[in-house]
Amino acid sequence: MIDLHTHHSRCGHATGSLRDYVTAALDKGVKVLGLSDHTPMFAAEEDHALPRVAMPKSEFPSYIAEALALKEEFAHSIEILVSTEADFFGGRMDPYTEALSRYPLDYVIGSVHMFEGRDIFDARRWETVADDDLAAVKGRYFRAVAECARSRLFHVMGHVDALKGNHPKLGAVPAPAAADEMLRAIRDSGAVMEINTSGGTKMCGGWYPESDLLERAHHFRVPITFASDAHVPERVCDQYPEVVKVLGDIGFRTWTVFRRGTARTCPLF
Ligand SMILES: [Zn+2]
Ligand SMILES: [Zn+2]
Repeated sequence: MIDLHTHHSRCGHATGSLRDYVTAALDKGVKVLGLSDHTPMFAAEEDHALPRVAMPKSEFPSYIAEALALKEEFAHSIEILVSTEADFFGGRMDPYTEALSRYPLDYVIGSVHMFEGRDIFDARRWETVADDDLAAVKGRYFRAVAECARSRLFHVMGHVDALKGNHPKLGAVPAPAAADEMLRAIRDSGAVMEINTSGGTKMCGGWYPESDLLERAHHFRVPITFASDAHVPERVCDQYPEVVKVLGDIGFRTWTVFRRGTARTCPLF
């Protein structure tokens, strides 16, 4: 079992210490655990710009130090990977690249959380959007993720259709041309797409992405990895067996993990 996407209390909206997530992973028999809390708002003036979104900039070194210490302490029982989930703001990533280059990260998750000026999970953003416009909006989100992949700053593309999180109707809305463009961009950038099981913590339920996108990803030979996106320790590897079953039926045979930026595959089952 692997899980490359977990958070903890430093971000201000998750519970549990890093050690709690390691302990939960050990209890479940997880072999590879990625610690990937949200990056600080590196582009902001203030040290702690958004206390309920991400840790202070000044806290990042101790996050990495604690993760590295746990990696060493548990080296004989579990492989811990040290990572972070960064927001993608098109064209304004220099403070992130500069800050992250100072740390021995195994990989970086790139996620589009801010889209067309608002948080993707802000349910109020949908109050003024007509159902007829949803396919176009979804297509634009996929293109934003494609741009995120093309930046080549990231190893893993986070929750690629999370726009549906608090507007479930979006899940079934087709946007095939933009979806295919995004999947090709992910593959061509050398990044992988995560299968993220945290949809159940939002209104949409289920996983990111939808199964039609998983099938298209297999068609385009996009490598994949597993992500619980746990914000509580108990969610580590949540729904792992169900995901393996569905992916195996589609035809996937391997996961991808990253060690110091280098991709390695491991068997799905
Ligand atoms: Zn979070
Ligand atoms: Zn995220």
